[in-house]
Amino acid sequence: MKKLVIHNVTAIFPNKLLPDARVVVRNGRIAEIGKSSKRMPDDAELVDGKGGYLSPGFVDVHVHGGGGGDFMDGTADAARVACQTHFRHGTTTIFPTTTTGTPEEIHAMIQACQTVGKETATGGLPRIPGIHLYGPFFSADKVGAHPAAGRRDPTPEEFQEYFKTKFIRIATCAAELPGAEGFYAMARKNRCYITCGHSNASWSEMDRAFRAGMRHVDHFWCAMSDVRSVRGRLSTPMQGSMEQYVLFNPEMSTEVIADGQHLSPELLLFAYRMIGPRRLFLVTDSSRAVDMPVGKYKIGNIHTGNEITHDGKVSRTTTGLGSSSVGMDHMVRTMKACSKAPLWEVIRMASLTPAERLGIDKEVGSLKTGKRADLVLFNKTLRVQKVWLGDNSPL
Ligand SMILES: [Zn+2]
Repeated sequence: MKKLVIHNVTAIFPNKLLPDARVVVRNGRIAEIGKSSKRMPDDAELVDGKGGYLSPGFVDVHVHGGGGGDFMDGTADAARVACQTHFRHGTTTIFPTTTTGTPEEIHAMIQACQTVGKETATGGLPRIPGIHLYGPFFSADKVGAHPAAGRRDPTPEEFQEYFKTKFIRIATCAAELPGAEGFYAMARKNRCYITCGHSNASWSEMDRAFRAGMRHVDHFWCAMSDVRSVRGRLSTPMQGSMEQYVLFNPEMSTEVIADGQHLSPELLLFAYRMIGPRRLFLVTDSSRAVDMPVGKYKIGNIHTGNEITHDGKVSRTTTGLGSSSVGMDHMVRTMKACSKAPLWEVIRMASLTPAERLGIDKEVGSLKTGKRADLVLFNKTLRVQKVWLGDNSPL
């Protein structure tokens, strides 16, 4: 992409829309944003947006697979097809996400993602700045759909080997597990975004984790503690849970799976209003079933993962939900419909907010002169027409 002009679009900024806009891209960076009426530069490739929307590319920090591949398969083929699938749905920066499994499976996953990460120049792929180490350090009573046999408590012997790859950017551990604080300390040293998920932690355990650097809770309301579940664990007096802790602490962020299947419209509205677009973001948390026909699949590794059924809308285990089956564009449309938020705030939750939290917002996450030209062209009903990946140097 040398010089590109996308015109006749409504540009989506973090705080407003700019109708009848054009965006000029030079050498993979946004060179200019202005009105379409200006004279078109010569020697540029012109794209007519036909009155649609131009959005920054999405940043997905929690994603397990797509197109038939799960990152935990541990092969470059699986990682590549998952990344290609999400790119088509508007994700330009992706953090492939581990689940429970053996150390060998997790190392194979990291290696496969590193391999595919080097292929971004070939096109059709999002960039992979690193991975989200999500499993295996879940609480035994909040494993959810993930294979329970692959869950365990954190030990330095195991997790230091993952951090040594320098490819972990987001690190999850249930706060109540023995060894959690050692895990958080090493994650902090490695400048990871630290999160607590698949956890039955109490308020005081969350507070201790917060002091150790934890700032985020994975998929709000899914596989996390509430007052009742903490009471079941720690008896009375009833105590605060992860839910209250996130709502109460302005430095905490969280995410929702806005596929319309995990959470009802009023919960998405509640999350938007009570947590707000600066500390709430959208993730896909998708299984390999994205863009695949209805049928049976595996969540996690193709051999050792749990069986899920994709019904065309969502993936389910025999007892509950088992990841989403859709891309980020679907999350944006659902969140827009349920939250009634202005479009720029919904897009913010899929781009700038996660970028800010991960400290990559100087480079990606919004339409701004100088930033990488990661762009998504939507039509008027928010269906993806085209996706561009800007400058793909390491992030
Ligand atoms: Zn999960």
